[in-house]
Amino acid sequence: MIIIDAHCHAGRGDRLTAPWNTAAPLGRYLRRARAAGIAKTVVIPAGHSDYSVANRELARIVARHRGRLIGFASVHSNRDAGRIRDMVRRAVVDWGFRGLKVHGYDAPATREVCEAVREFRIPMLLDVVGRAYLVDLLAPQFPDVNFIIPHIGSFMDDFRAQQQVVDQLVRHRNVFADTAGVRRFDFIVQAVRRAGPHKLIFGSDGPWLHPGLELHKIRLLGLPPEQEAMILGGNLMRLIGRVGTRSPHSPAQHSAPSRRATASQATR
Ligand SMILES: [Zn+2]
Repeated sequence: MIIIDAHCHAGRGDRLTAPWNTAAPLGRYLRRARAAGIAKTVVIPAGHSDYSVANRELARIVARHRGRLIGFASVHSNRDAGRIRDMVRRAVVDWGFRGLKVHGYDAPATREVCEAVREFRIPMLLDVVGRAYLVDLLAPQFPDVNFIIPHIGSFMDDFRAQQQVVDQLVRHRNVFADTAGVRRFDFIVQAVRRAGPHKLIFGSDGPWLHPGLELHKIRLLGLPPEQEAMILGGNLMRLIGRVGTRSPHSPAQHSAPSRRATASQATR
């Protein structure tokens, strides 16, 4: 069993108003993750005013750490409106990315964004920034899209949102949550008990949070090994293993898809 951190940032932001839009240097993170036994990491751009630039930088970083890093692109639902499909296509087909992050600080996910992730069969990491009701609007509209809600709904410890997301994990088959930065431990316990271990995904929110510390929270659940393994990588592999097969443009002429096809066959 390999451990995958499903939530880490990489690359530079350009706004410089908070750590998450300034810089996400990976050096220290990669040492800490290796020491903690984390074999692979999903990386997402830092906050940026132009995600086509940030995604391209991320692609270069992923290429430098092939086999260890898995790219998730970012889009801004409003600013990038009209070019979302193009951005997702480029990320998945040209760079081998396996998911899309939409941040509520930027703008909630629109129909255009949901349709693009559905076409390319990638999961959407959707930070609702406390507005958990968004999940109840989106999830039933796109039953064939898998939504991962980071921080069980709130990085800022909004317990109302986290409580609501635990309920949503129970109610919506296509809704998952990651554990990154969740401080109220009992929400993680509740999520496992009520929704099941197949609905939770380990993430650290590195490089700003320590991946070893975040991983220890999952160990502290004291789950049977097969359930712990689902949270530590099995669930994520299932969600990212569907990539590309629905795309009408699944191009046989590119070099990346053959690698992806192998990966998705391995997880079926
Ligand atoms: Zn994050």
